[in-house]
Amino acid sequence: MVSESAQSTLLRSLIVADVHANLEALESVIVDAGKNGGFDQVWSLGDIVGYGANPAECIELLREYDAMGIAGNHDLAACGKIAPDGFSKDATAAVWWTISKLTFEQYTYLRDLPLSMQMESFTLVHGSARAPFWSEYVETAESARVSFDLMSTPRCLVGHSHRQLMWLDHGGSVSLQKPPIDTPIVLGANRLIINPGAVGQPRDADPRASYAVYDSRDMVVTFHRVAYDRPATQHKMQEAGLPQYLWTRLEYGL
Ligand code: ZN
Repeated sequence: MVSESAQSTLLRSLIVADVHANLEALESVIVDAGKNGGFDQVWSLGDIVGYGANPAECIELLREYDAMGIAGNHDLAACGKIAPDGFSKDATAAVWWTISKLTFEQYTYLRDLPLSMQMESFTLVHGSARAPFWSEYVETAESARVSFDLMSTPRCLVGHSHRQLMWLDHGGSVSLQKPPIDTPIVLGANRLIINPGAVGQPRDADPRASYAVYDSRDMVVTFHRVAYDRPATQHKMQEAGLPQYLWTRLEYGL
């Protein structure tokens, strides 16, 4: 699963975002990334927990891989750093349920996650460069422009919107690309904002788990989708008493 280069230089980074306590999706992503050339390290863009039925297990799996990562708004709510004031009713219910399932160590793990970090030429944030963990979805040219202006690195990795996409900075203007799947994209001179999509709750009308891999040797990013045992995930959520909308939406990727 881990590529042969792991012992020397960390060349390939598995990029995950918005796992949202969906263990089946996270496991499928890890297996699939292993088949697609492997990876040497994991970068996590936040929202490990919230919505799904396996918050503790997802934290432990990421810890197993020594994932480097930052906190999302759901992580911060689950460890009490923020109140879930702006959350929907269903999301708030999931926050309280999640809190009841975490050990003190897992709670501490979430509490100690930074809000942003720099890895190589990338800044990692959950929301945007303007609002690292909260409130902003980089989904308009205006919000992308503001983020580009605030970025101190040429590239930024974001989650939060649960949609696979890539913004390019052309100097005066920005453009949005829906990246092709399984096709390496060479990182040129353009400054970029990249969202690998959500592992655990995609919202771009494709219910498969999303992720990306960055290869620092070839300077390419490749976006991927992989199916997972969605019925098992939905069954667990239903059994846990989590709100119905949270498990039915997984069916459609919305
Ligand atoms: Zn999220």
